[in-house]
Amino acid sequence: MSDLKIYNTLSRTKETFEPLTKQHVGLYVCGPTVYSDVHLGNCRTFISFDIIYRYLRYLGYKVRYVRNITDAGHLEGDRDEGDDKFSKKARLEQLEPMEIVQKYTVGFHKVMELFNTLPPTIEPTATGHITEQIRMAQQIIDNGYAYVVDGTVYFDVEKYNKEKPYGILTNRKLEDLLEGTRELGGQDEKKGRLDFALWIKAGPEHLMQWPSPWGMGFPGWHIECSAMSEKYLGKQFDIHGGGMDLAATHHTNEIAQSQACYHTSPVRYWMHTNMLTVNGVRMSKSAGNGFLPEELFSGSHPLLEKAYSPMNVRFFMLQTHYRSTLDFSNEALQAAEKGLKRLWEAYETAAGFNHPGNDDKIIDAALDNKVLKLVNEFDEHMNDDFNTARVLASMFELVPVINSIKDKTIALQALSKETVALLQTKFKSYLEDVFGLKAVNEADNAKLQGVMQLLIDIRKEAKGKKDFATSDKIRNQLAALGITLKDEKGGEMSWNVD
Ligand code: AMP
Ligand code: ZN
Repeated sequence: MSDLKIYNTLSRTKETFEPLTKQHVGLYVCGPTVYSDVHLGNCRTFISFDIIYRYLRYLGYKVRYVRNITDAGHLEGDRDEGDDKFSKKARLEQLEPMEIVQKYTVGFHKVMELFNTLPPTIEPTATGHITEQIRMAQQIIDNGYAYVVDGTVYFDVEKYNKEKPYGILTNRKLEDLLEGTRELGGQDEKKGRLDFALWIKAGPEHLMQWPSPWGMGFPGWHIECSAMSEKYLGKQFDIHGGGMDLAATHHTNEIAQSQACYHTSPVRYWMHTNMLTVNGVRMSKSAGNGFLPEELFSGSHPLLEKAYSPMNVRFFMLQTHYRSTLDFSNEALQAAEKGLKRLWEAYETAAGFNHPGNDDKIIDAALDNKVLKLVNEFDEHMNDDFNTARVLASMFELVPVINSIKDKTIALQALSKETVALLQTKFKSYLEDVFGLKAVNEADNAKLQGVMQLLIDIRKEAKGKKDFATSDKIRNQLAALGITLKDEKGGEMSWNVD
């Protein structure tokens, strides 16, 4: 088997993966900012890294997978401007900021579970690591790369850039970055336009604040990931991931902070996932084009023609390489639904093959070699920077062979017993373990649909006879089970599972 190659944003090339410690991998992924529901774009990034995590485990690595929860310090603007997202939402919803954090963390976990993503091995929160962030900011000051102005600590980008190229991750020069940034206003306390806050002074109105050597305040968003990755993975670790939108500022600042603090480049392989788009526009909260996962699962979003299951959506994402953009549409989801059904049926068919052995039967060598080649390609494609799309293409080439064996147009013994066994195990480990797909039990779904329709009909008849006790009983008891009945146009009813 070939070596695993990973596209490293830092070198802009595919590099052979060599972990710092044999058989162990340290993986850090920037987690969600839990001030609102995650949209499908966020999910794409988390699902991509779930598959990367699963594949590393499949290769036999012991992975320490750290994905944080950003529950403090994330301001509306990337460059220390605007309100704190949690305080703003807390005021809006009339809740404590930590109630906001709890509500959306629970929601995030629920969505991740529906998508069958594995939990990280450590999920640290920013609020749980204030001391570590203060300590790191202090060390950066002591090393001469940060300064304090009236209770706020800023990182001195220009000073840092004299020794290390600040824009190294996205290959940009400081002059170009400066050109793209607005001039400092008269009120600005920063020395340089690109300087960013490690610690921010909090006014009395600020709901989340902690004591520090510089007065009451809260940490900047970037220092959070530097402090937590160092704590759990060390001053240098193997892989750091996140969406591509994080590279230019958040991850650029993470490198500068760690370098200024510990004099080492923190990450060996920087991995960035590309964006989920809607009609070519990046899905985001600010663009207002965000689909919530539950809107997909229930089909309640006005732009959706029907509901799509979590596995359908997961499969849709797997069909595109993680570094390519992926455009979201009804047509693409429906095609993915058909594709998954066809593939899963073939997988189950193949799992049922019971090869009696090849004793006196003649193996079709060309066919046997073709199947072997395609099956062995799964690992090759994944080793080529986790190319899930190519693995699926190889799997789809195997589907007609499996179906022909099922229809008996090809004899099972045209393949060797070993080839069939390999086909069975590789399909299983890829579809279930690496890709994290699960069977959608269509038979159960169809039965539930039938039972629901029966209840809706009985309720309609009861209402027709003015038997409201029965109709209310049906509605209320379904509600207690988490199933909501909705009146549709033309007197029709539909139902939703919460
Ligand atoms: P946030 O909660 O905004 O900090 O984002 C969580 C993760 O989702 C980050 O890694 C982002 O880069 C990623 N992300 C945000 N929008 C998209 C999108 N449209 N497609 C893919 N990933 C995204
Ligand atoms: Zn981060």
